[in-house]
Amino acid sequence: MIIPLFLMNRGCPHRCMYCNERLTAGNHPARVTEAAFAETVRTHLRSAPRKPGPVQIAFYGGTFTGMEREEQRRLLSMAEPFLREGAVDGIRISTRPDGIDKEALDLFRTTGVKTVEIGAQSLHEGVLIESHRGHTETDTVRALTLLKENGFKTGIHLMAGLPGDNPDRFAETIRKTIALRPDMVRIHPTLVLRDTPLAQAFYQGMYKPLTLPEATDLCKNALKALTSAGIPVIRLGLQTTRELEEPGAVVAGPFHQAFRSIVEAALFLELATSLLLSAEQGNGVTSSGSAKTDRLTARFTVSPSDLSSFCGAGRGNIAFLQERFSSEEIRITSHPTVSRGTVILTHGNQQLQADGAGRITRLQG
Ligand code: SF4
Repeated sequence: MIIPLFLMNRGCPHRCMYCNERLTAGNHPARVTEAAFAETVRTHLRSAPRKPGPVQIAFYGGTFTGMEREEQRRLLSMAEPFLREGAVDGIRISTRPDGIDKEALDLFRTTGVKTVEIGAQSLHEGVLIESHRGHTETDTVRALTLLKENGFKTGIHLMAGLPGDNPDRFAETIRKTIALRPDMVRIHPTLVLRDTPLAQAFYQGMYKPLTLPEATDLCKNALKALTSAGIPVIRLGLQTTRELEEPGAVVAGPFHQAFRSIVEAALFLELATSLLLSAEQGNGVTSSGSAKTDRLTARFTVSPSDLSSFCGAGRGNIAFLQERFSSEEIRITSHPTVSRGTVILTHGNQQLQADGAGRITRLQG
């Protein structure tokens, strides 16, 4: 459970090309007062549904370590009573990679900070320069290394489709992220937001945003690679806010409120297709329908939590599979014993399993 407080561009050395925190974080006050802080935390503790795992207060938005050290101390000290009474287990902050130094870590260590999320956005120098991020890939490597050496949990934020990015550069960013071994990753596709330099670049024809299918494909491949490396992707797509949904807030770009579901549906379709092709080879039939045997039933089983993503919007994945594998009868079931992200295919006397990384294992037949 995360109790978020937003710092609204505080501590940022400049405004990044794409950033409009009034839209992405919502309209929060510029300064977090002690009374507002306590009220937010208590309200969350009272009303938010409890999930298993630790409770953390999170300072998001802005650049936490870019603020005056005294202000950082003031904010962190507000959490102290909640930590002392055991209502929360730790603090989580997000900051820029060039904002991590030994002094910052000393402060974190003594104030209950357990997790630090780094806004890396890209690990390609050209993309960082074109996006006016003002830090380097080396800053991210150094920050992650320091944080890990000092025992903090780490997260990396990435963006797909930044100015200067392309599928090869994004794949390189994912490979470098995996090499850094963060504890978690968040990814969102770049959106052209109102009142940003990126919107000006877009209007001048200098920036072309990703389409929704392009963003889905990039993020699907990233999800697969990170899952395969055992690194959880805890968010895909921006969390929507009332402000982001206002007409004109998103000027252009692949905005979708259920972006993660779209990406997961694309990945499930890929897994189901691979499973069925493997099973057909095993049974001596082909997807064109030149079967040596009678029409077979292809029964997919997934976790109940994945059922909707597996079927896709409007059951589009099922329709696609039924058309592509017209010699099969496609059936879907769910079972609580199947892990999230896993698909099991029962086909004739075979049973095959695909995990979220795309690895296929023969369970039977
Ligand atoms: S550092 Fe983060 S919060 Fe600050 S301007 Fe850049 S993107 Fe926005």
